Amino acid sequence: MFARTLGLLFWMAVAAIAGYWLNPSAGPLLGAFAVCLLTVLKDLWKGQKIANWLRHNNVQDPPDLGGIWGDLINRMRRILSEQRKQTQHEQQRLQDFLSAIQASPNGVVLLDPEGRIEWCNQTAAQHLGMDAKRDLMQHVVHLVRDPVFNKYISSDDHEAEVVIDGRSSSLQKTVKLSVQLHSYGENRQLLLTRDVTAVSHADAMRRDFVANVSHEIRTPLTVMSGFIETLQSLNLDSIEKERYLSLMSVQAERMEDLVNDLLILSQLEGSALPSNSDPISIEGLMAGIESEARGLSDSQLFEGEAPQVLQFETPQGVQILGASKELHSAISNLVNNAVRYTPSGGAISATWSYLADQRMQFSVVDTGPGIATEHLPRLTERFYRVDRSRSRESGGTGLGLAIVKHVMQRHGGELKIESELGKGSRFTLIFPASRVVLATTD
Ligand code: ADP
Repeated sequence: MFARTLGLLFWMAVAAIAGYWLNPSAGPLLGAFAVCLLTVLKDLWKGQKIANWLRHNNVQDPPDLGGIWGDLINRMRRILSEQRKQTQHEQQRLQDFLSAIQASPNGVVLLDPEGRIEWCNQTAAQHLGMDAKRDLMQHVVHLVRDPVFNKYISSDDHEAEVVIDGRSSSLQKTVKLSVQLHSYGENRQLLLTRDVTAVSHADAMRRDFVANVSHEIRTPLTVMSGFIETLQSLNLDSIEKERYLSLMSVQAERMEDLVNDLLILSQLEGSALPSNSDPISIEGLMAGIESEARGLSDSQLFEGEAPQVLQFETPQGVQILGASKELHSAISNLVNNAVRYTPSGGAISATWSYLADQRMQFSVVDTGPGIATEHLPRLTERFYRVDRSRSRESGGTGLGLAIVKHVMQRHGGELKIESELGKGSRFTLIFPASRVVLATTD
């Protein structure tokens, strides 16, 4: 600055001397004035160049002006490029942040103070049936037409979340969404959406299960309390008393069976997977199951009826790696079902066979009533019965096939059900090769 002032004074003095030479009276003043005017014009021109440079925002290509203007440009350039870097850094951070929200399994919608969508991630768009780009700045209530949602949004209380039907809900598949509003910034709101279909499904199943168990227990209890009342109020002879007591014992047994099956199911759900190193002899297992089944078949037989024909084929020396109690439960459930549902004179065969890929299968085939195709996919649901009274009459709990399916899943195997109404049924258990220890031939 000092050098520039000195330079200006120098040139003014030179111009004044030159002016004096030309015209001693007005020359010096005019000379000095001309230098000042030229300096101002030159500065104006340089200022204009800088303004143009700034206007075009081209930091990398500054005008080459030198001197004090050059200094000024260098400093401005440094400040501008630092700001540019800072902005790029902030933009990158914003992008990373938005990508993180995009990756979230929950939906996120940013609403302005008027409730218009400023931004939303793909999950929210899919949950609420919106287009993340096209629907920007639309009022969210115009897009989500759900009375529960509209009431929630217009109320002042957003403490709790509400559950609404998701946009992809259909008659075949309901999708449940939990939505909640949170305030942030200046009157802005964050709308979070979460897919709670699985949770509400589990909740509904739990409610159904409790209702079913209560109903199953209440029925024999009602019958028993009726008998107790009769025994208390009527003066019955010993034969009648005996009859009532034996009827009560049937109901008590029913409750016991139900509680036992419930306990088995809860143990299956809560315990570690069956070990892969405990060999169970199929022969030993089947011996107990066969005598149980024959006993059950005899106990069902009324006088004059033809007995059922039971046939068991068990391979020798084969072992299954798994939990003995669970396998017993699965196999006996299938064999006992066949005995219970097949009328007198019918035939039941329980056979083991090898499959080509080293797997092993156990099949129970009966000549019973068979099951209509529409029931087959639901048979392994808890308490699902084709014929409720037939199941109860024969002492069923409605949990047998659910137990079988669970046991097979735990052993890495599968349960296959084939049946035709009026033509009997075939229930097959398939054990994976990894759990089969074949007989060694000497
Ligand atoms: P339950 O204790 O009622 O027998 P399960 O879970 O063992 O319950 O079986 C479910 C239903 O499947 C039964 O109620 C019955 O309707 C049907 N079912 C099972 N096994 C047979 C079979 N061998 N023949 C005909 N129906 C069967």
